[in-house]
Amino acid sequence: MDSNDAYIPLSVPNLKGNELKYVGECIKSEWISSAGSFVTRFENELASYVKAKYSTAVCNGTAALHLALLITGIKPGDEVFVPTLTFIAPVNTIKYVGATPIFIDCDDHLNISPFALSKFIDENCIYKKSCLINRKTGGKISAIIPVHIFGNAVDMEPIMDLAEMYGLKIIEDATESLGTYYTKGRYAARKTGTIGHIGCYSFNGNKIITTGGGGMLVSDNQEYVEKARYLSTQAKDDALHYVHHNIGYNYRMTNIQAALGCAQLEKIDEYIKIKRNNFAIYKKELAGISGLSFINEPEYCFSNFWFYSLMIEKEKFGIDKDNLISCLKNERIESRPIWHLNHMQKPYKNDPRGIILKAKKFFERVINIPCSANLRREDISRVIKSIKEVHTNG
Ligand SMILES: *Cc1c(COP(=O)(O)O)cnc(C)c1O
Repeated sequence: MDSNDAYIPLSVPNLKGNELKYVGECIKSEWISSAGSFVTRFENELASYVKAKYSTAVCNGTAALHLALLITGIKPGDEVFVPTLTFIAPVNTIKYVGATPIFIDCDDHLNISPFALSKFIDENCIYKKSCLINRKTGGKISAIIPVHIFGNAVDMEPIMDLAEMYGLKIIEDATESLGTYYTKGRYAARKTGTIGHIGCYSFNGNKIITTGGGGMLVSDNQEYVEKARYLSTQAKDDALHYVHHNIGYNYRMTNIQAALGCAQLEKIDEYIKIKRNNFAIYKKELAGISGLSFINEPEYCFSNFWFYSLMIEKEKFGIDKDNLISCLKNERIESRPIWHLNHMQKPYKNDPRGIILKAKKFFERVINIPCSANLRREDISRVIKSIKEVHTNG
């Protein structure tokens, strides 16, 4: 290792556009809290970018998911399908509303598998009095949360068909896939987050665009979005006299966050272009190495390539994923394993699940490698060189 080599982080923000200018406007005008023109502007611009009719800005993606479950009427005791391979946030929000997750396996793009989902329904559920019932628990299944993992679009056609057939609500977790769209089929040209009943986005620091922390809920159903805005601002029924008919939350986005969001959104298509281009470089230069492969974008979508997923097969590559992560760390390069499977996490280990095979295979083999939109060509070359060296020395 050359000790002068700069540290290459996994995913960091890029704030070289109008961020400072817009945040400066907030500060000069002294509109820094949750009222202010940037909040409305960011809501409108994001809705128009994804082509959703209505939107409301919130303090983070998890809050958007929590509100989505509340306003679609998911009740305590209900059950909700969710992938086991995902960041834990959507799973936790199911518990926030007193419901129970049913964990489902993934497909070859790491997304919830429609095949595994319909197999679970066929083998474990009955449909009676317009309700889908889990026979083992007696619980009513009321929703699915498809998560577009690392920017790859979920195969939504069969999922929407199941939802239609069994009256399930679809809450899309599009927190990782802002900008991803379908290129084929029924949803061609539509962006992720606009297919189901509600879509949720996140602008956390490591997401494709960031507001430091932030989220957005979108829908074509005006009632849903108005209800989300009401609940996110403490459920004020008479704001002047402090009258509240419901339990509300303090989930609103601030004007400073929204100012960052407006500046970041101006750059998103540029970031996607860079991320796709950098992925192509990694893929080309690491091609032909035995035991290494990338998770590709599904043939039916144009992915934002938020994160790059590299699969390591120890038998052929020589070392396993954890070893590769520590070798890269020695070279001052950050890489990470994908998430611990949620059906095995302590709070969820007794909750229902289908048969989980693929997710286990990917969990044991896949890592994420540096993918920031401000990676330089020489950074990419250094990551590639380090991986190749591990291979020849391992
Ligand atoms: C980031 C993320 C979230 C949560 O977003 P926050 O803004 O961090 O609350 C939810 N789901 C997935 C899959 C995520 O990656």
